[in-house]
Amino acid sequence: MALFSRKDKYIRINPNRSTVQATPQTKPEVPDELFDKCPGCKKTIYQKDLGLEKTCPNCSYNFRISAKDRLALLVDEGSFEECFIGIETVNPLHFPGYMEKLAETREKTGLDEAVMTGLAEIGGQKIALGIMDSNFIMASMGTVVGEKITRLFELAIERSLPVVLFTASGGARMQEGIMSLMQMAKISAAVQRHSKAGLFYLTVLTDPTTGGVTASFAMEGDIILAEPQTLVGFAGRRVIESTVRETLPADFQKAEFLLEHGFVDKIVKRQDLRETIGTLVSLHGGGL
Ligand SMILES: [Zn+2]
Repeated sequence: MALFSRKDKYIRINPNRSTVQATPQTKPEVPDELFDKCPGCKKTIYQKDLGLEKTCPNCSYNFRISAKDRLALLVDEGSFEECFIGIETVNPLHFPGYMEKLAETREKTGLDEAVMTGLAEIGGQKIALGIMDSNFIMASMGTVVGEKITRLFELAIERSLPVVLFTASGGARMQEGIMSLMQMAKISAAVQRHSKAGLFYLTVLTDPTTGGVTASFAMEGDIILAEPQTLVGFAGRRVIESTVRETLPADFQKAEFLLEHGFVDKIVKRQDLRETIGTLVSLHGGGL
């Protein structure tokens, strides 16, 4: 009798379909956050094995990381001083649902916008630092992103500091229309003023850097670094293929392809970025 009394606990016979189903209690539950599937080698990776760098131990694929995680990997502990927070995003086109989406994204990411800006130190050298975060509406560039980056350059000029900028973006923020496209010119003018002051500007392209960000400040660095396998482009692959009616090479728009064609100066592994940036900043006499 004990055997029959166990049936609700372990199996349930569905009288309508004559099938045996496992009850919810018997399903093994593995929390999603424990494992990740690597887009590089397609293997399932135990999250802990990714380490702080979030790099696949199997194929070295770089998972996308948040601005906060990037910051922890990069700068001297406790040296980051965030600037230009609280600039309010408006909805110039009255785009439906935009403000709600922003509020929700702020809540989810803990960021106020798609770029984090401030002053920091790497190996004791002071820099003006910007890190874009693809978790925030794919790090699209709206008016606030443009304003924060412009102010960062202006602050760097005032304090004679080098600028280090980690780019990531899906492009201009469509909800802000032409206002977001204007940020390309605004930031580029600030980059030019910083350059004329004789100061050093370093960009690090991270996956994905596309659209208006690539077409402006991402490619304006005195030195341009990229993480391995980073997607860098202006228009999407399918758009180009259907326009030129040709099949593009498999590695088209990858950092390695850009390096080969002279658009990128060096590809640096994520775990080596801190040291490389520190060396480049010190060679260019910035921030002392
Ligand atoms: Zn992998």
